[in-house]
Amino acid sequence: MKIKAIRFAKLKVPLVTPFKTALREVSFIEDLVVIIETHCGQIGYGSAASTPVITGDTHQGMISVIKQFIAPKLLGLEIENINQLTHIIQTTVVGNSSAKAALEIAVYDLWGKLYKAPLYKLLGGGQSELKTDITISVDNIDKMLSDCQLAVDQGFDVLKVKIGNNLNQDIERVKAIYAGFASKALLRLDVNQGWSAKQTVQALQQLEHAGVVLELVEQPVKSNDIQGLKYITDRVNTPIMADESAFSPQQVIQLLELGAVDIINIKLMKTGGLSRAIEIANITAQYQAQCMIGCMLEGSIAMAGAAHLASAKAQQISKIDLDGPALGQYDPVQGGVEFNGPQITLSDAPGLGIESINGLELITNGVWPE
Ligand code: MG
Repeated sequence: MKIKAIRFAKLKVPLVTPFKTALREVSFIEDLVVIIETHCGQIGYGSAASTPVITGDTHQGMISVIKQFIAPKLLGLEIENINQLTHIIQTTVVGNSSAKAALEIAVYDLWGKLYKAPLYKLLGGGQSELKTDITISVDNIDKMLSDCQLAVDQGFDVLKVKIGNNLNQDIERVKAIYAGFASKALLRLDVNQGWSAKQTVQALQQLEHAGVVLELVEQPVKSNDIQGLKYITDRVNTPIMADESAFSPQQVIQLLELGAVDIINIKLMKTGGLSRAIEIANITAQYQAQCMIGCMLEGSIAMAGAAHLASAKAQQISKIDLDGPALGQYDPVQGGVEFNGPQITLSDAPGLGIESINGLELITNGVWPE
């Protein structure tokens, strides 16, 4: 099964509720879809979202870097040599983690199709049913409480609450949500780099004192503030998780060696796809640390790759935050991984199992070789 061509398309799905974090506001899931064609007619799908304020990737940037630099090295190569392919994808250019992720997801999809097995089984096997949390966007307290109620009514029992734009309001938000929902759901907080280390300690000590039990607090401080993460972890009981501070396996080793965090949030858009996400899961095992598998609001193609990984690496990846498709008004992808409220169901079809995709808009000049 040899790589023959790569095509690019757009896939846009409106969100039920606009997604707000301390860093950005989004009202669509808007993916760049990477379609790898092979000489035998099999097609592999991958996708990535544009996240300029997080990874620096834009759709146009991803297309250029793939067409100009990575694709020429992949042409004619055999899918069975998956390690060679992922090595080329990872090492041809620095950065560009979302472009690499979209390509790797498509390559792994084809790898499954080559051996006629679902990806999670090729990666070591696991459960076909997973359960995700849901994100509650940062907003005024009443709106956040009504969003939490809606989520609980839909069957979610883990809420990932976005805060981080005002310390005192944030503490009030968390107290109110805890008072209303602690008996119905586990709470995770994502501060999205919105606090300083000292503010975080102050906030968490205050919350711990008030009896608020949080499953974890994600990325309270700036991504490069590793000392800040350690300062916090040394002073609070609540488990601390790195998100924007943990892109690469080297960063994960550094964080865990220092004892700066308890948990690592793996996202394919940060690791550049599955190969390094697998490495990170293996590294955390050596430190008895746990992982979350997260997303950047990609649609269900990329999310399927993440779900297959989470199933195969369930020993390490004990927390699942793959709610992107659940936040969309509909899922344009048929077959493959089914996202139904908190339930994620992996199919046993080969690769990612995608049968068809509605509403794919092929991009003009979006084919390589031209
Ligand atoms: Mg996060």
